[in-house]
Amino acid sequence: MRVVMLAPPGAGKGTQGTLIARHFDLPHVALGDLLRVHMSRRTPVGERVREYVMAGELVPDELVLELVVHGLRGTSDRGGYVLDGFPRSIPQARQADHILTELGLAPQVVLHLAVDDDEVVRRLLARGSLENRLDDNEITIRRRLDVYHTVTAPVLDYYAANSRLVSVDAMQSVDAVGEDVLDALETLNPDVTRLPAAGDVLESCG
Ligand code: AMP
Repeated sequence: MRVVMLAPPGAGKGTQGTLIARHFDLPHVALGDLLRVHMSRRTPVGERVREYVMAGELVPDELVLELVVHGLRGTSDRGGYVLDGFPRSIPQARQADHILTELGLAPQVVLHLAVDDDEVVRRLLARGSLENRLDDNEITIRRRLDVYHTVTAPVLDYYAANSRLVSVDAMQSVDAVGEDVLDALETLNPDVTRLPAAGDVLESCG
């Protein structure tokens, strides 16, 4: 199964992505984590993206796309992937459809975690003081939310039009969100061939 997670910052993409990956035994590719590894190792990519990440802006598409294609390479042999943090704009979604389809890696399910802005700010400020993430300060959080609403949220309509979208209420506790996420994906999992329910068999026999 190839799953893309789409959500505002602080909705729990990392936590739920890890849960999905473990449950379905899939590799978890998190764009933000990849960028932070580059930044902490001070690679050329890390040095190029630092300014954007620290300001809460999206980093340039060509850098992101290269990381995505590299991160997803080989995932078809591993049953698919959970991709968190990409696409984050309509141009990225179009690129994902174009390039990933060519590679046989187009997303099959788009999972949206729905959470409101006040809760996002509350969660990220709490995480900032625990994990020392430098983009979890109030100014950058507000900017990341703006970017989400103006640039990323339209991607939901893009996928809804292709009926690949499922939305889960992420205002609940971590465990309750996890249960809803796994239920939704179990139901949608395109890799599972379901046996018809007894009622369906009877009905089809007339
Ligand atoms: P995240 O850990 O997913 O909240 O991402 C942290 C930061 O990494 C974002 O605020 C952006 O600066 C950058 N980033 C992550 N994913 C993308 C993406 N798909 N396109 C552009 N920038 C991204």
